[in-house]
Amino acid sequence: KRKRGEDEISSLVKRVEELDLKAAIKSFSDLPLSEPTAAGLSASHFKTLTDIQSRAISHALKGRDILGAAKTGSGKTLAFLVPILENLYRRQWTELDGLGALILSPTRELAIQIFEVLRKVGRNHAFSAGLIIGGKSLREEQDRLGRMNILVCTPGRMLQHLDQTAMFETNNLQMLVLDEADRIMDMGFQKTVDAIIDHLPTKRQTMLFSATQTKKVGDLARLSLQEPEYVSVHESA
Ligand code: ADP
Ligand code: MG
Repeated sequence: KRKRGEDEISSLVKRVEELDLKAAIKSFSDLPLSEPTAAGLSASHFKTLTDIQSRAISHALKGRDILGAAKTGSGKTLAFLVPILENLYRRQWTELDGLGALILSPTRELAIQIFEVLRKVGRNHAFSAGLIIGGKSLREEQDRLGRMNILVCTPGRMLQHLDQTAMFETNNLQMLVLDEADRIMDMGFQKTVDAIIDHLPTKRQTMLFSATQTKKVGDLARLSLQEPEYVSVHESA
């Protein structure tokens, strides 16, 4: 197993600090990414960035909150998964640090898809990742929760654990992602998401992605984001 060098981390931190937000990033190799992420992307045949990725990832690597809108199929998943892997890696996150990132998805199917991309692209990292979408007994999920660094979950099931799983600590959480925020709102999860956010530290990085910009998404953004970078990709005719 590869040994994580202090030098490697500090040089990566420096390269992220020096990353020019105005530069047009075309390929993943233009970004200051860790070796495990770069290798995972390359093994998954991801080379060039999509528009939303090229406009969101640099800001997200620097810890900014993101409000991103781009149609289905535009590559929003990597726009948040790459920053999650990188920001935890640069903090040298380990199993002992507990939950570092939480990804909320409106449906089980979408959560599973995100989890599969995470497993593929993140396969060279040592982080533990879990999928919490119900379907298993609460008890079974509870036993695994405490050991997870990255969780992909549906809102209802997540809140159930936050309310009922005593051992489940979220004090250390660094990043929250609300994926398909428009669907989360359309499906009536507003109160559930509000309650989940109440359980999380206020000092965190939040990324909210949706396919459309609606008033409901705007309301959710106001409640969860701090001075976000607005990234919206429209189709050109
Ligand atoms: P969205 O969440 O915006 O609907 P996804 O993240 O699900 O989009 O990505 C849609 C498709 O595009 C997936 O099949 C994914 O593998 C592919 N994809 C995403 N990013 C890239 C990229 N940088 N290069 C090539 N294909 C990509
Ligand atoms: Mg998506």
